[in-house]
Formats: sequence, structure tokens, C-alpha cells
Amino acid sequence: MRKFEGKELLVATHNQGKLEEIAHLLSDFGVSVVGAAEKGLGEPEETETTFVGNARIKAHAAAKATGLPALSDDSGLEIDALDGAPGVYTADWAETQTGRDFEMAMEKAYTAIVASEKEPPWKARFCCTLVLAWPDGHDEVFPGTIDGQITWPMRGSQGHGYDPIFVPNGHTETFGEMDRWEKNRMSHRADAFRKLVEGCFR
Ligand code: IMP
Repeated sequence: MRKFEGKELLVATHNQGKLEEIAHLLSDFGVSVVGAAEKGLGEPEETETTFVGNARIKAHAAAKATGLPALSDDSGLEIDALDGAPGVYTADWAETQTGRDFEMAMEKAYTAIVASEKEPPWKARFCCTLVLAWPDGHDEVFPGTIDGQITWPMRGSQGHGYDPIFVPNGHTETFGEMDRWEKNRMSHRADAFRKLVEGCFR
């Protein structure tokens, strides 16, 4: 496992919220974090069919373009009754001509589950894969998951994306009803980040 030894890390995202969260997580390790927009990077097309494949595309493109080690993430929701869909297409299911509509995406998921005629509990998991890539082409991969089930109707207005229909195992509230900090401690992203910090920053 290669350690991160630089001072500056490129985070291959245009999402300001993600960037701030990662900067906060890595501040204890003396790492300064810079975003893709600040370096004038575009968004490469995510042409792979796995989380790790797409995370690799983003991290390697950013590392090559800037000469800095680059961190990317790719995430989504896998529903067993739908054979793992929407999976890497989780964000795509929300696309409309006027932007993303997650209520529509959740309706789509529920309608597909009902059409599958599978009985509840409808097992599902959120997945997050982090990839740290270096300009010489080396990378380290950290997958994170949280298992749970899909519930209907939607509950809660906290969080984002598909949070209102996901209940993590051992809980009764959806991610949409949970306090943000409680969710962030147990989430798929937290799981992957713990592994990244252990692997490359300690
Ligand atoms: P990407 O990783 O930016 O390509 O997008 C993944 C998509 O998965 C997001 O647009 C969300 O819809 C969904 N997603 C990922 N993590 C979460 C989460 O913690 N809660 C709800 N939805 C999520």
C-alpha cells in the first residue's frame, strides 16, 4: 500500500460540499485539498460499468492533468430486487431535461421493485468507491458499503438523493429522517474514508 506523502491533494470533484467534507476529514494530516474546478479541469465521461471503473477514470484523468495525487469517488444504490440497479446509473435515473429530480428517481425505483413481484424486505446497499491515483499511474482503491432495505413511501427531508427510501440495518428511520451527523458516521462514504485514512494517511 502506497502512503500519501505530499502536501497537496487534488480532489476530482466539482461538488463544493464534497470538497469541503474531504478537506475537513484530511485536515488532521496536514494535507491541503484543491478541487477540480480550481484547476480548470473538465468532467471526464464515466464510461465504465462499475463504481471502481468510473472512480478510476476520474482520479487518473485528474492526476495526469495536474501532476498531483488525485482522489475521486463514485457512489450509488444497489437494489437486490432489481439485480443491483440503479447501481452506477443511480444519478442517471434522476436526470430530466431541467436537472436532476430524485423524487422521480425514487418513484422509478419503487415502480420497478413492485413490477419485479419480489416480496419485502427489499434488500439494498449504498456503495462508495474511493480511488487515490498518482501521476505515475499507481492507484489504491477503497470500497465502502452500508446495508439496509428500501421502504415506501418516502420519509424525511434531510440528506439528499435516495435517502428518503433507505433504512440502514439495525435502524427504523430512513437516512432522510436521520440527523446528518448520525448518517455521516455510518454511511458507505464514512466506511470507505476510514479505509483510505488507515491505508494511505497513517
Ligand atoms: P456520483 O457518485 O456523483 O456519480 O453520484 C452517485 C449518486 O448516488 C448520487 O447522485 C446520489 O443520487 C446517489 N447517492 C450516493 N450516495 C448517496 C447517499 O448517501 N444518499 C443518497 N443518495 C446517494
